[in-house]
Amino acid sequence: HFVLPRSLLSRALTGQGHRVVQAVNGVSFALQQGETLGLVGESGSGKSTLGRTILRLYEPTRGEVRFDGQDVFRLDAAGLRRFRQQAQIVFQNPYASLNPRKTVRQILAVPLALRGLSRRERQEEAAALMERVGLSPQHLDRYPHQFSGGQRQRIGIARALAMHPRLIVADEPVSALDVSVQAQIINLLEDLQQELGLTYLFISHDLSVVRHLSTRVAVMYLGQIVELSPTEPLFEEPLHPYTRALLSAAPGQGRRERIILQGAPPSPLDPPPGCPFHPRCPAVVGDVCRTDRPAPVLLGEGRWVACHLYGPPA
Ligand code: SF4
Ligand code: MG
Repeated sequence: HFVLPRSLLSRALTGQGHRVVQAVNGVSFALQQGETLGLVGESGSGKSTLGRTILRLYEPTRGEVRFDGQDVFRLDAAGLRRFRQQAQIVFQNPYASLNPRKTVRQILAVPLALRGLSRRERQEEAAALMERVGLSPQHLDRYPHQFSGGQRQRIGIARALAMHPRLIVADEPVSALDVSVQAQIINLLEDLQQELGLTYLFISHDLSVVRHLSTRVAVMYLGQIVELSPTEPLFEEPLHPYTRALLSAAPGQGRRERIILQGAPPSPLDPPPGCPFHPRCPAVVGDVCRTDRPAPVLLGEGRWVACHLYGPPA
């Protein structure tokens, strides 16, 4: 029900004000109801920009995102309100995203009121949401600082659920939490997906979490999706040289030799010509890597890769 095209430009805030960055290029993808698509890549690769652009939290300048056949970027105010009910975001830092001067009851009342619930229904629903995310309804009148980090993320999830969404973009939802708490939140997300049939776009730099949760994985480099694959085939046999390097550097994923990349990733505002990975790629096949952007090619079931090792230039 959800399709991204090959090219999507987005306005993102940078130090210099609004700048246009390539949020995503390369492989387009469609999310299936009930699946989890993991989105991985180094920081600065555009993962969060992509997640926010899909939800139109960033205004796109070009490209297309379809939700139930509708172009998200062309929705009018009423259409956008309906879309925002269906598609929610859970942030990395629940503390920063919860208003410290509001109680949990007040925080949850905002989305519940948008759904048009009466005061009494809001109270009942708020209590039910607390239970659903593993918190006591008796704590509804507490403030965010009175909860632990893990509990605050549960509140962030409850706030997203309050809209009855079908799609949740989870942007590094556990990376700010203690390792012992991470598993509990991951389990909660899995349970909710099962119960409610939710679809997740799960953004993370933690490859073991992504491997555990995801049906498919998209690998981003400098605003380009360079590989998209069902999860296990990707971890068993990564195809793109960047994916290979990324996996080889991940603790626990390394049965293979560590590939050390030279240099830092260039700025996504000024990506190199040709293949964006060519200045750091250990497998350059020739001048074509420096001049031509590789087109995505399909290799086996659902396995897309954009690299000249595998196909002709775009
Ligand atoms: Fe490396 Fe060339 Fe493939 Fe880019 S297209 S990843 S530079 S081999
Ligand atoms: Mg990010």
